[in-house]
Amino acid sequence: MRTPTVEFDCAECGSRVSADASAASATCTRCGASRELTPAGLAPSGGLLGCRVCGHLELYTRKDFPKPLGFAIVIVAAILAPFTNYISLGVAALLDFALYFTMPELVACYVCDARHRGFPAEPRHPRFDREIDERLKYGRRAVMGKPMREGGTAGAPEPEH
Ligand SMILES: [Zn+2]
Ligand SMILES: [Zn+2]
Repeated sequence: MRTPTVEFDCAECGSRVSADASAASATCTRCGASRELTPAGLAPSGGLLGCRVCGHLELYTRKDFPKPLGFAIVIVAAILAPFTNYISLGVAALLDFALYFTMPELVACYVCDARHRGFPAEPRHPRFDREIDERLKYGRRAVMGKPMREGGTAGAPEPEH
C-alpha cells in the first residue's frame, strides 16, 4: 500500500512541501521550516477526516491529473492534425479520456489547498462542491452558501448539481 502523503505550501518560503501524512509534523526541504500536522484530520483507521494541515473538515476528491500533460497531448495532436487527416485529434481525445480514468485520486482541502494522496478510501469525500467553496470564500455574503455538514465532508453524499 502507498504511504499516505500530504502536499502543501510552506508558510515560510512558499515552496511546495510533500510529507509523510502519518507523521506528527512536516519539514520543508527548501528552508527547513517545520509545521505540525493536525491530528484531527486522521481517523483511527487511517482514513482522512479532515485536512492534515489546517484541520478543516471539508475536503473534496478529484483526479490527480497533471494539467500540463493534458495540454501537451492536445498540442502534439494539433501539430500532427494536418498530416493525419485530423485523426490525431481523435486519438488525443481518447488518450486524455483513458488517462483521466486511470489516474489516481487525491483529496484536496477547500481552505488551504493541501493535497492528500494514498489514504484509505473510507471515509470518502465527495467531489468539489461550489456551494461549500462559496461559503468558505464569502461567508455570510455567499448567495449559495449552505452551513457545514456535521463532521464535514467525510462520508457525505455527492453534490447533486
Ligand atoms: Zn519552506
Ligand atoms: Zn487545509
